[in-house]
Amino acid sequence: MALMGQMMSAPLLISSIIKHAARYYGSTEIVSRRTEGDLHRYTYRDCELRARKLAQALGALGVKQGERVGTLAWNGYRHLEVYYGVSGMGAVCHTVNPRLFPEQIAYIVNHAEDGYIFFDLTFLPLVEGVAPHCPNVRGWVAMTDRAHMPAEAKVPLLCYEELLDAQDGNYEWPQFDENLASSLCYTSGTTGNPKGALYSHRSTVLHSYASAMPDALGCSASDVILPVVPMFHVNAWGLPYSVPLVGAKLVLPGPKLDGASLYELFEQEKVTFSAGVPTVWLGLLQHVQANQLKFSTFRRTVIGGSAAPPAMIRALEALDVEVIHAWGMTEMSPLGTSSKLLAKHQDLSDAERHKIQEKQGRVIYGVDMKIVDGEGKELPWDGKAFGDLLVRGPWIIDRYFRNDASPLVDGWFPTGDVATIDADGFMQITDRSKDVIKSGGEWISSIDIENVAAAHPAVHMAACISAYHPKWDERPLLVVVKKPGAEVSREQLLQFFEGKVAKWWIPDDVAFVTEIPLTATGKMQKLRLREQFKDYKLPTA
Ligand code: ADP
Repeated sequence: MALMGQMMSAPLLISSIIKHAARYYGSTEIVSRRTEGDLHRYTYRDCELRARKLAQALGALGVKQGERVGTLAWNGYRHLEVYYGVSGMGAVCHTVNPRLFPEQIAYIVNHAEDGYIFFDLTFLPLVEGVAPHCPNVRGWVAMTDRAHMPAEAKVPLLCYEELLDAQDGNYEWPQFDENLASSLCYTSGTTGNPKGALYSHRSTVLHSYASAMPDALGCSASDVILPVVPMFHVNAWGLPYSVPLVGAKLVLPGPKLDGASLYELFEQEKVTFSAGVPTVWLGLLQHVQANQLKFSTFRRTVIGGSAAPPAMIRALEALDVEVIHAWGMTEMSPLGTSSKLLAKHQDLSDAERHKIQEKQGRVIYGVDMKIVDGEGKELPWDGKAFGDLLVRGPWIIDRYFRNDASPLVDGWFPTGDVATIDADGFMQITDRSKDVIKSGGEWISSIDIENVAAAHPAVHMAACISAYHPKWDERPLLVVVKKPGAEVSREQLLQFFEGKVAKWWIPDDVAFVTEIPLTATGKMQKLRLREQFKDYKLPTA
């Protein structure tokens, strides 16, 4: 007979995280910039009590285990309470990205069959627009108090603070199977309709443990952590779970994500650690550099979601901020890899070290990855061979919500990214497979081209897309937004590439624009750019 281990069996539940924070870091603060305009502060103890009241309120509203409850909200303490109250009582917290088009939002809410939607006042017009198209939503909850409730609304609204005030908080978090669904995020749907990734309590708790580790995000009780990445973008990369798990002070920036507002909050609350997509850091860096400011306490940040340009990594380093380059996706909860140095890297020159930091990094324990060629054959880890990147692990998707077709290939999830892996296991994304430029059958990495362009002092933002070429089929076109007041010509920019990439990788042309469209998660929207430039005539054609 098999000999079983004889340790206590306790399900890995999300409620255990906030319970732990309240009991062991009870007086540690959560500071939020509110849509009402002021700064709100309270503690993990307060948060857990209010999450319990919310769980009671949800019960009183008739929300059942497994039912989906949606949010349209910024990073703030009430949103955090919804994370814990909803999942903790056994329902599913479904964060909806308010930056999507209203039709996409209605599609997602209907597909998820959300019973209630909790929203920040900023999004009232959005709610009024989509509500008539979401017949299954039983109630829209405005996340504010009675005094701030809108005088008139086209939709009947419930008041968040009133719901909580009606409860006494006398509530025990229920215990149930750790494999039950806890939360739901939809992919942005750049190709076709958005698809839902349905996380479980188990996958979320394991991901929180792993992502807090020193060589992953490295969160600690001695940190003050401000996630700039929205709580509607893959659960703010898990930080609303991993920060209470380690007991760090949490700072939530609300709707004010411009450089000046962020800088003020970083300084005032003594933030040490943050996380966000590259376009966020562009804004903050511009503000800090233009006003010759310094960070007093901010020392580390995670950059992911799209490739962190080397110039950005170095600009932050010059301000004493270490960049942890990380890669992941909605289907991966999201964290897959992060780029931290190994012991043997200690004596490297700055240039050698930068080369490593520019990679998306090594897997964190729990994730397994491989690269394969067109036939599915595994490719060597030599830092040169590139192929389709596949992953597997306990916080990686098995199938999409309400979709029976398995996305897996022999038990592996195909990421849609193309990558290399070096002998030390550092993975580097070459491109999203749909963004790769195929010139005469050979591949050009649009990320590499963008990284070079971003290092030019006159360039604010640069995207490289393919343009039609009669001989080569596709050739790179560089689309550039200049820094305010900066001047650079097409020729100067193209010259800047000499010696930095292979000659045949140098773009055929540069198009200067005033703006590059961004996706709902703040990434450069190359699909839109490709449409915009679909009839573009290259001078080389
Ligand atoms: P979407 O971009 O559709 O909103 P995700 O946020 O899940 O959805 O995006 C995941 C994708 O983002 C990855 O497959 C990859 O292409 C890209 N990505 C994430 N992090 C990085 C990174 N550090 N470098 C390059 N690409 C990245």
